[in-house]
Amino acid sequence: MTKRLTTTAGAPIADNQNSLSAGERGPLLMQDYQLLEKLAHQNRERIPERVVHAKGWGAFGTLTITGDISRYTCAKALQPGTKTEMLARFSTVAGEQGAADHERDVRGFALKFYTEEGNWDLVGNNTPVFFIRDPLKFPDFIHTQKRHPKTNLRSPTAMWDFWSLSPEALHQVTILMSDRGLPQTPMQMNGYGSHTYSLWNEKGERYWVKFHFKTMQGHAHYTNREGEAIIGKTREGYQEALYGAIENGNFPKWRMMVQIMSEQEAEKTPYNPFDLTKVWPHADFPLIEVGIMELNRNPENYFAEIEQAAFSPSNIVPGIGFSPDKVLQARIFSYADAHRYRLGTHYEALPVNAPKCPMHHYHKDGSMNFFGQKTGADDAYYEPNSMGGAVEDPSVSEPPLKISGDGARYNHRDGNDDYSQPRALHDLMDDGQRQRLYQNIADSMGGVPEEIIERALGHFEKISPDYAKGIRKALKA
Ligand code: NDP
Repeated sequence: MTKRLTTTAGAPIADNQNSLSAGERGPLLMQDYQLLEKLAHQNRERIPERVVHAKGWGAFGTLTITGDISRYTCAKALQPGTKTEMLARFSTVAGEQGAADHERDVRGFALKFYTEEGNWDLVGNNTPVFFIRDPLKFPDFIHTQKRHPKTNLRSPTAMWDFWSLSPEALHQVTILMSDRGLPQTPMQMNGYGSHTYSLWNEKGERYWVKFHFKTMQGHAHYTNREGEAIIGKTREGYQEALYGAIENGNFPKWRMMVQIMSEQEAEKTPYNPFDLTKVWPHADFPLIEVGIMELNRNPENYFAEIEQAAFSPSNIVPGIGFSPDKVLQARIFSYADAHRYRLGTHYEALPVNAPKCPMHHYHKDGSMNFFGQKTGADDAYYEPNSMGGAVEDPSVSEPPLKISGDGARYNHRDGNDDYSQPRALHDLMDDGQRQRLYQNIADSMGGVPEEIIERALGHFEKISPDYAKGIRKALKA
């Protein structure tokens, strides 16, 4: 039976075609509240887009644990045989919400696992490292990726000025400019938690961990030219590919793996294991298989479930912990803060963000509180209480984080080797991959002043003379 149209308050609407006017030719009557409501709603259809990662594509799925890492973690979702519902949102970083999908950029790889002990979010990228290692530089870095305040255009000069003054960015720049900087579809790229996190077990032992999600579809990339040709035909290639694959039953999968480092080993690595610009070499810290992530359900409503999806590294669960990684520490604040601004105080209560396990807290009131009392008892609106409200559970206490040091602004560039790891990546590329890397870098330097290019080449020279030579050749071609 056809459903009856109503106002948002549920009253039936008699006419949705003609506004209420004082005569056939107008003017309109103020009491046409249906018209007012429609126009007012339309004015509020857009919410602030994310400052970074505005353009995204997402789907729901499952994480199935096939391996056994129970000696490292008591996290329920990571125990052998466990299946957990999850949500993934992929994104580009710099472009606005209407940006074309096939642009060269780092891809966001944000995961929300609805575990039985609360939501665990892993808010990573398709790269294992990042451009900066000190979060104080994050707003500056993002300004270089966004629009120039006067021209309102993206500025290659700003990008290369910043990068050439920030050698810690070279590792990520090398990945961005390599084949992996433009995956064909979201299914054909790896995901990385990127930060060092920790796992802890029932004995109270802590291990440092890196999370990896290896594509089971195989890697596939486009060159800049191929990307441009696709954008000429469709700006929504990723949405089409991901949505289409899932609608057709071709569910994409990733192999979830971890690298584990003991607290003792972390004292001995020649690099800071909590530095976001560094990987842990596989030969030293081999990948351990954990499970399979599969995406198998498209959202019913893109806005409600993907645009309003709020991922935050602050969402961890018992058995998983943070690490001293400075960028991770800053993101614990800034992601939740971004969601409070974009979506409102109670963004965690929206259906896509709400945990699927029982939830009790004493946060009260606030704008758009539609869930009432969540304390477990009507008269318990403070804690401690003798009214039967929810109480803490010491059995999920995290082992102490061993920290020592003096509070100071430590120079993060002092004595840091920013060249060896990009060199290792350059070394493993074949000739074709290297030529495309050089060409992509040269392409991205169009219009950049000579002295900035020379400063950047000085760093590439330190990675490898061949790297700098290759870029120089491509610049002249
Ligand atoms: P390995 O040879 O064991 O691993 C190389 C890694 O590089 C693989 O994970 C591979 O991914 C990945 N890779 C291949 N091509 C690219 C590319 N163009 N951009 C980014 N990653 C790529 O060596 P190491 O562990 O000693 O690392 C050597 C270098 O490889 C590092 O300095 C780093 O730049 C890069 N790397 C290392 C990772 C790590 O966690 N150790 C993770 C990703 C990159 P796949 O297996 O999916 O093909």
